[in-house]
Amino acid sequence: MPANIIDGNAIALEIRKQVQQSVSKRLENGLKAPGLAVVLVGESPASQVYVRKKREACAEAGVVSRAFNLPDSTSERELLNLIERLNHDHEIDGILIQLPLPDHIDATTVLEAIHPDKDVDGFHPYNIGRLAQRIPSLRPCTPYGVIHMLNTIGETYKGRHAVIVGASNIVGRPMGLELLLAGATVTTCHRFTRDLADHVARADILVVAVGKPGIVKGEWVKPGATVIDVGINRTAEGKLTGDVDFAAAAERAAYITPVPGGVGPMTVAMLLRNTLEAANNHDASS
Ligand code: NAP
Repeated sequence: MPANIIDGNAIALEIRKQVQQSVSKRLENGLKAPGLAVVLVGESPASQVYVRKKREACAEAGVVSRAFNLPDSTSERELLNLIERLNHDHEIDGILIQLPLPDHIDATTVLEAIHPDKDVDGFHPYNIGRLAQRIPSLRPCTPYGVIHMLNTIGETYKGRHAVIVGASNIVGRPMGLELLLAGATVTTCHRFTRDLADHVARADILVVAVGKPGIVKGEWVKPGATVIDVGINRTAEGKLTGDVDFAAAAERAAYITPVPGGVGPMTVAMLLRNTLEAANNHDASS
């Protein structure tokens, strides 16, 4: 039986509608709209597209986004000064620094400079630490989006084996923390993992985030598994494709995400949700 396709566009739309309704309620109650600073350094066309999509999603949900398009020549000090100003700006609830940054700027230093209460990407060590200690605050958007997708299809986690392929700071590692928090038994695979196929074959829930098309073969997938493909790769013909051999995997899995239209839209939706949460938290603490 071919797998059920998990429609990331539809699930993300639902979340965006909920954010829009909550923003309207805030305005009715005399509160300001949530504010998001979107900082882009340099002129990478891919980053420009991502930033444009995030700003459009903000506008649709009633979140006020303020754009900071800085030249490639921006120094680390100048960027840190901007973050410092935004940290103290009461109109701004969330700060998003579009990655990757130019080579002369240290991303770790920059991300750690964002106040954890405004870290709507959920990358700050404070927020990752809270997630690791089972007291999450602002949660990394892509893994949090995957959890929402899994919840939507009725995933129960407990007693289930989750295998994550990829261990980056922004996807693989926090994905492991999220799945552990949800009650799954978690294995994380990375560059030095031996016998990737054996690990994949034991996954009830498989999340792949590597950035290599076809790294997971369809015949490795356990029959009845749920397959979440986070990878986004562009083929020589300019088409988007994931990390999983979709057609063959879909013959074995119970559920699978497509690329595009799977995890990608969820990441933007969770960014809006985090910005709303940050605004609500700021009101509660002021
Ligand atoms: P990344 O920082 O390059 O990390 C890739 C990870 O894959 C690393 O942990 C690396 O291991 C691991 N890896 C490399 N070769 C491997 C192999 N042969 N076997 C097992 N693991 C291997 O990438 P990322 O930022 O996590 O992104 C991964 C993919 O997801 C990319 O295609 C990206 O475009 C996509 N992405 C999508 C979204 C979305 O919204 N859908 C969001 C973020 C990223 P080491 O740690 O050992 O080097």
